[in-house]
Amino acid sequence: MNYLDDVRSAARAYLLREADDARPEWRGVFTMNGTEGPTGIAPVCPDPEHEAGDGDLYTCCPELAIEVESAEFAEYLVALLNADREGGAR
Ligand SMILES: [Zn+2]
Repeated sequence: MNYLDDVRSAARAYLLREADDARPEWRGVFTMNGTEGPTGIAPVCPDPEHEAGDGDLYTCCPELAIEVESAEFAEYLVALLNADREGGAR
């Protein structure tokens, strides 16, 4: 396996432990008050009552939320992680 496969596998093992999903779909989330756009990333909430476009975090949401301090960087990470969801070895 190459380096990307190795780190992807390790990250998926971590995500399986922390978010109960090795390949979650990601979304931008509001992790700080007063920002215009979401500056964090988190798995898409599986609760059917949680609207897909709602970037706030509630008690229904998976625990894992990562603050990245930039709406542009958060959007980029969400795009990268979602593009990579099916990538690499199983
Ligand atoms: Zn939720």
